[in-house]
Amino acid sequence: MKKDDCIFCKIANGEIPSSTLYEDDDFRIFLDLAPASKGHALIVPKEHFDNLYELSDEKASKALVLAKKTISKMTEALKCDGFNVLQNNNECAGQTVYHFHMHLIPRYKGDDVGLKWTPGENTQEERDEIVNKVRAI
Ligand code: AMP
Ligand code: ZN
Repeated sequence: MKKDDCIFCKIANGEIPSSTLYEDDDFRIFLDLAPASKGHALIVPKEHFDNLYELSDEKASKALVLAKKTISKMTEALKCDGFNVLQNNNECAGQTVYHFHMHLIPRYKGDDVGLKWTPGENTQEERDEIVNKVRAI
């Protein structure tokens, strides 16, 4: 199902043009217009899902297989040195477009893509509490 006011529904379904690297019945992979690095691409389903919470299991499996194949192709084509594959869910996690997408970000030795966090600390007690909460559901 598409959502009327969703820009990624329009791009994925070809109503708005994009620099498309790959397309099939379910997905389009196109270049990000504000790339973190040269070749930054987005894997986007043609069907609307707000985020990973909503994505069907079938599309979730397919998205990861597409990511795997595409980073191999792009590594060969762009001669990059590595890749970040990531996706954001909800505003606090940096999601700005509320249609599921997976970022493919080529990495080049010495680039300045800032995807680092400050390593924190936790205790065994805190780890146990988290494990117990999650496993109880
Ligand atoms: P996120 O912040 O994870 O929701 O990522 C949204 C991404 O979509 C950002 O990297 C934007 O640069 C990218 N973006 C937004 N609009 C467009 C567009 N029309 N075409 C290509 N990429 C876009
Ligand atoms: Zn959409």
